[in-house]
Amino acid sequence: MSLDRIDPIFESSFLQPADEAQRSATSKVAVPVTVAYGDGIGPEIMEATLNILAAAGAAIAPEKIEIGERVYLSGNTAGIEPAAWESLRRTKVFLKSPITTPSGGGYKSLNVTVRKTLGLYANVRPCVAYAPFVDTPHPKMNMVIVRENEEDLYAGIEHRQTDEVFQCLKLITRPGCEKIVRYAFEYARAHGRKKVTSMVKDNIMKMTDGLFQKVFEEIGAEYPDIAQEKYIIDIGAARIASKPERFDVIVTPNLYGDIISDIAAEITGSVGLAGSANIGEHVAMFEAIHGSAPDISGQDLANPSGLLLGAVMMLVHIGQADVAERVHNAWLRTIEDGQHTVDLKGPKSETILGTQAFAQAVIACLGQEPQTLAPVRYKNPAPKAFAASKPLYTRKAPALKTMVGVDVFVHDAVRTPDALGAMLTAFNDSRLELQVITNRGVKVFPGGFPETFCTDHWRCRFVATDASGVIGHADICKLLSRLTEFGIDVIKTENLCTFDGERGFALAQGQ
Ligand code: NAD
Repeated sequence: MSLDRIDPIFESSFLQPADEAQRSATSKVAVPVTVAYGDGIGPEIMEATLNILAAAGAAIAPEKIEIGERVYLSGNTAGIEPAAWESLRRTKVFLKSPITTPSGGGYKSLNVTVRKTLGLYANVRPCVAYAPFVDTPHPKMNMVIVRENEEDLYAGIEHRQTDEVFQCLKLITRPGCEKIVRYAFEYARAHGRKKVTSMVKDNIMKMTDGLFQKVFEEIGAEYPDIAQEKYIIDIGAARIASKPERFDVIVTPNLYGDIISDIAAEITGSVGLAGSANIGEHVAMFEAIHGSAPDISGQDLANPSGLLLGAVMMLVHIGQADVAERVHNAWLRTIEDGQHTVDLKGPKSETILGTQAFAQAVIACLGQEPQTLAPVRYKNPAPKAFAASKPLYTRKAPALKTMVGVDVFVHDAVRTPDALGAMLTAFNDSRLELQVITNRGVKVFPGGFPETFCTDHWRCRFVATDASGVIGHADICKLLSRLTEFGIDVIKTENLCTFDGERGFALAQGQ
């Protein structure tokens, strides 16, 4: 197979380029890089990766920071100390091993915190087959997943609202969509990719995923040279598993991207093969896509390739394309020679090596190139960041926002839908009237079905009664005060608004 199209992935990635001071490959001034050894297999794969980089002549000055499990367990629920932030903001380049997020206990995911705090909006995940040397049913697959990295369900805004109901807010923003979609199209154009596919669930989440798809179509119109298509994420994920070779660049919201990139990496032969770049306007972070693999930690079994290929992207980013090329070609040669870690074990495996022995095998191949797989070629300097010539996002003039009603969420484990509906209809004397009650989104009043299972969590939609159809905050306050007088346990409200006349809320299922 040809790996010609791998090269450009790493060639520029039009990352925001590192500072000139960091672009020092030619002068060989060591570039400060913040390094975290992480948890589980993290220290093993980081040691292997740094050994290869050192042997290849990478001019980097690693600054080790402590993050992750040990920091969490010392009582820091964020998993990161102020000194680590200082290093990250100064070096602007982060090579990170996977970390373990302890379950429960209020620990926030450090990965999500770092990505969001540093504005690393694009997660670029190349997933490439190395057939016939790594066994895969999909020898021609060569896709790049561009995953939105800052929002969606990963906002981590969760609440328990009633005895029975928990909520996680899915936030999709226009700036977030515009940034990631433009990045994906610019990436495709810069790297000679032919097609960008969006994967969403806009048949169900018409407003959030609908916005993502709308922006995809709006921005896509500026790139007539790139083929464009849309998949609903469920069939899209199925097609990635069955026919991955038909995809080129995929752009998708955060959660879907997280899931499909593990699927895509796994079917190339191992989840341990894929590296990833997290790109921001100021800082970039490079890592493997996999986690800390506690099941194999401390056993010298882990494949360091994902982190190593992440480090290759980092070398290109800091202007050391020559070293990146040396490392990547030596790695391809090692794979081609059948020197494999155990996760890659297959018909072409000659020797199964531990993590550190695999690193030594790559080091022994430095200066060599693959003979069957296409060698990679990188160029210095990385091309100018597209964001420098075009703003990533420009805020538009605000729309005319008109409030036309309110959804009041209520905790009630006693009343039936009809009883609740009758009560809310009877006593309300504000300028709002009850239009519909839903339970988990399904209409249960008026005219609900007895078959519908109901929890203790109700959404009661009130709309303006007068001809103007418009209400104010005072109307909502009056309504809430009436509800409180009648002992209704109000959990929260959501204003119902139109924006330039367009409805800014979904209808209830069955409404
Ligand atoms: P995982 O990716 O750690 O492991 C999944 C499976 O893949 C395991 O069987 C593991 O042995 C195998 N595997 C992973 N990397 C491998 C490698 N390099 N070589 C060989 N085999 C490899 O996923 P998980 O078990 O769901 O998560 C474990 C922990 O990692 C969790 O605490 C999770 O929060 C964390 N995690 C961290 C990151 C990150 O730091 N970026 C990403 C994902 C998960």
